[in-house]
Amino acid sequence: MTLSPAALASSLADQGLRWLAITWVNHAGAPLVKVVPLAHLQQAVRTGVGFSPVADAFGTDGSIDPAHRLAVPDGDLRLKADPAALAPLAPARGWAWAPGERWQRNGEPYAADQRHFCRRQQEGLEAAGLTLQAGFELEWLVAEAEPGAAPRPAMPGGPYGADRLVEGFDYATALLEAIEAAGLPWLQFHPEYGASQFELSLAPGTALEAADRLVRARLVIQRVSRRFGWRCSFSPKPSLERVGDGGHLHFSVQRAGQPLLQGGEGVAGLSEAGQQLLATLLEELPALMALACPLAVSYLRLGPSSWSAPFQVWGVENREAALRLIPSAADGAAAHLELKVSDLGANPYLLLGAVQLLVRQGLAGQQRSLPPPLSGDPAALPLGQVSRLPGSLEQASAAFAASALLRQGMGEALHGSLLDSQAAEVRRCAQLSPEQQVAASCWWPLVGGLG
Ligand code: GLU
Ligand code: MG
Repeated sequence: MTLSPAALASSLADQGLRWLAITWVNHAGAPLVKVVPLAHLQQAVRTGVGFSPVADAFGTDGSIDPAHRLAVPDGDLRLKADPAALAPLAPARGWAWAPGERWQRNGEPYAADQRHFCRRQQEGLEAAGLTLQAGFELEWLVAEAEPGAAPRPAMPGGPYGADRLVEGFDYATALLEAIEAAGLPWLQFHPEYGASQFELSLAPGTALEAADRLVRARLVIQRVSRRFGWRCSFSPKPSLERVGDGGHLHFSVQRAGQPLLQGGEGVAGLSEAGQQLLATLLEELPALMALACPLAVSYLRLGPSSWSAPFQVWGVENREAALRLIPSAADGAAAHLELKVSDLGANPYLLLGAVQLLVRQGLAGQQRSLPPPLSGDPAALPLGQVSRLPGSLEQASAAFAASALLRQGMGEALHGSLLDSQAAEVRRCAQLSPEQQVAASCWWPLVGGLG
C-alpha cells in the first residue's frame, strides 16, 4: 500500500524525522539540495521547491560558463520530491532524504532533467518486457586536508589490508553504522589497493534505486569522514602518483524473468540477445564515456594496467576490459556486466539512463557482431591491435555528439545542454597542466575544492 504524502509525513515524524533534504544531481555531476520541514512533505511532492534552470550550467568548480545555453537568468523549475524513494539520511539527527525531479511550472516534465530521463528509460525497458538490476561500487580516499596541499592519506595499512581495517577501525565502524542507519543495503566493504583508499559495494536494485543509493551513500561517507576531522575524495585521480578512484557499475538484464547474459551458446554462455546487448554497449562505449567519465581529470585515471580499463574491449572476468562479463556464480547470482571505466564524477542518473537506452536499442535494433573476448592486459598487445577509448573529455564529447542513439534517445534539450557542460569542462582545463587539473578537483565532489 502506498501512503499519501500526509500519512507518510506523520509516520516519519513518529520516527523522529524532522527535515527533508531533497537532492538532484546537475549536469556537472554535483548533488544540489534544498531542505524543507518534513511537515511540508505534501507540498514538496505536489508543488515542489523552486530551482533555476541555470543550475545545470554550473561547472565542476561552481562557475557558470557564459557560453552555456542554460546560462540565463530566466525561468523557474519545480523540484518535486519522489515520495516512493524517501529514505533516512541521518535519522538520529532528524534528517530524511528524497531525490527530486524538476518539472515546468505548467506541470510538464522538464526535458533536461537527469532523473526523469533515467525514469523514462526504466519505464521504456519495462514496457519492452525487460528489467535491469544495477549496483555501484564506490572507491574513495580518506585524507587529511590542508588548503593548497595535496591530500595526505589518513590511515596506514596495505592493499586490501586487515592492518588498515584495524588502523581505521573506529572510522569503519562509524561508517557502516551510518550506512545502515540510512537504510542503504550493501554487499561488501574493504580497504582498496591505494593508500588510505576504501571501497563499498552497494546492493543491486532498479536503475533509479541504484542511482539514488549512490547519491545517498556519498553524502553519508562525506559526513562520517568529516566527523573524524578527515575528508573523503571521490576524485577519479586525487593525486598523480596514486591509483585512481573508480565508480564501477554492475548490471544484469532479464527478459520475462530469464537472465539475458547466460544460458546461451555463446562465449561463457552468452545468449544471442546477450551478445547483441554487449555488442551495442561496446560500440557506443566512446560516446558513453562522456557520461561515465565526465571530468577532465577522469582521463588521467584511465591509464593502462591500473584496472581502470581504458581499451574498447570486453572480456570474461578480465579486470582490464572496459566491459567485464562476470558469468553466473556458484551462488546462483545471475551473470552480469561490469562497466569498469566509470568514475564517481558521473551523474548516476544520466549514466544509468544511457545504459538502459542502449540496452533497449541494442535488443531492438540492427544486428551487430560481437568481437571475441579479450584475455590478458590489452596494454601488452602490439599497438593498433585493440582500440584505445577516448583519451580526453574532448574526444569523448565528440563521440557523444556523434551518437545518433544517445542524441535521439535523450532528446535535444538534454543531449545539447550536456554538450555545453562538457565543452565548459574542456575549456576550464585547457590551460591546466595535469598537476593543476588534479589539484583543482582533488576533493571532488566538494565543488570549488577547499577554497
Ligand atoms: N581503483 C581502480 C579504478 O580506478 C579499480 C580497482 C578495482 O578493480 O577495484 O578503477
Ligand atoms: Mg575496487
